[in-house]
Order: sequence, then structure tokens, then C-alpha cells
Amino acid sequence: MGVAPATVTMTLRRMQRDEWISGHRRREIHLTELEREAARSVTRRHMLTEWLLVKIFKFPIFETHDEAHRIEHAISPKLEERMYEILGKPELCPHGNPLPGNESLTKDWVSLVDIPVGAEVIIRRVHEFAEDN
Ligand SMILES: [Zn+2]
Ligand SMILES: [Zn+2]
Repeated sequence: MGVAPATVTMTLRRMQRDEWISGHRRREIHLTELEREAARSVTRRHMLTEWLLVKIFKFPIFETHDEAHRIEHAISPKLEERMYEILGKPELCPHGNPLPGNESLTKDWVSLVDIPVGAEVIIRRVHEFAEDN
């Protein structure tokens, strides 16, 4: 994740104190339902912000991920709901990643590494990990 081990330890302690995680030991971390919903919410806000940047501000798709990371935390639940409506209730982000609750949409999609050389394909998704790169 590109952070120092001490930062991870401190963050995990804080998350445990605030009841985001239910105890961690031996490299296992379990999210509480509270944290699970918080993670889903920030993911939704991130993806809706990407759409906002593409549709309203005409950003090229490859610039939206970093930009959305800066904005996503400032969006209230009320604004999130409004964005969702105005952006046409998207099921995927502009990179083709499913909004939380829509994961089944991509379950039959095949990874490029499993495609034979020379085959013709439509690229539908750039994974969030790849967006970072
Ligand atoms: Zn993104
Ligand atoms: Zn995306």
C-alpha cells in the first residue's frame, strides 16, 4: 500500500479503538458491519465522483481516479444520493468497476491474460488496482 509498517500498526490500533475492526492478530483483520458500510459508501462516492468528472467536467477517464480520491471524502450522504440520481444510477464506474452491490455484473468477464493471442476483444474494465498505475 506504499506506507510504513508503523503507520499500518497505528492505523489498525485506531480502527480497533473506534470499533471499525473487531480485533486483529496474526495478519488477519475483520471489518465490523459499521466499517463494511463505510467502505461501501466511500467506494460509491469515489465512483460517482469519477462519473461527475467525466460527464460534467469532461475529464479524460485516466485522470479521474486520482482526482476523485481528493474529493470523495468531502461528499455528504445527501449529495451522494443526489449524484447517484443525476448521473443516471450508474452500476459501473467509468473504468468498468462495479459500484458496491453490483459485483455480479462483472462475474462472467474474462481477464485479458486468459485471452488467446490474436483474439478480438472489447475492454470493459480497468481494475481499481490498475487505475492507481
Ligand atoms: Zn477510481
Ligand atoms: Zn473507476
